Amino acid sequence: MIKFNVAAINLCTEAEGPYKRLTIWFQGCNLHCEGCCNPDFQPLIPKHFLCLDQLLEIISDAKERFGIDGVTYSGGEPTLQQNLPLLTEKIKELGLGVISFTGRRYGEVEDILCGCDVVLDGSYQKDKPEKKRRLLGSENQRILCITDRYRDCIDEWFVYPNSINEINIGKTLVINGDKI
Ligand code: SF4
Repeated sequence: MIKFNVAAINLCTEAEGPYKRLTIWFQGCNLHCEGCCNPDFQPLIPKHFLCLDQLLEIISDAKERFGIDGVTYSGGEPTLQQNLPLLTEKIKELGLGVISFTGRRYGEVEDILCGCDVVLDGSYQKDKPEKKRRLLGSENQRILCITDRYRDCIDEWFVYPNSINEINIGKTLVINGDKI
């Protein structure tokens, strides 16, 4: 069965890319950037395994309930999820967009990120803190529009003071054990 190692899910946020988005934080990263903002998501350990159908059901529900425009992959390192292209393909079939973070350079992980509309790439470099763009941690990280879906709004959304605060109440899926 196709499964994904998920650390957390926010069912609807406006802080992880343009428009309303569901965000999946995948568990596990092997890059070990000094000063990583999500150290709890680094260990390569089984967290909450969700199968493809479970994830798609959660995403479809969020589309219906909150009117999300797309899904953001974060982590952890999303590209460690071997079946990511299949998940992306199925999300696109729902008419949703996909944005992914990766600590790798896009050229190294292009295959696993196929289908993504926007890729935010590059490892976090503590000595080059980002002061102008939202969401990005360091100046070396790039915003790559792979498709046209967000091309017209991406600069406006990211090229902004990099402070964005949001308090989500009741939209974060807390997953205990293997069941949701
Ligand atoms: S790539 Fe991201 S999750 Fe991985 S160590 Fe670096 S900052 Fe942390």
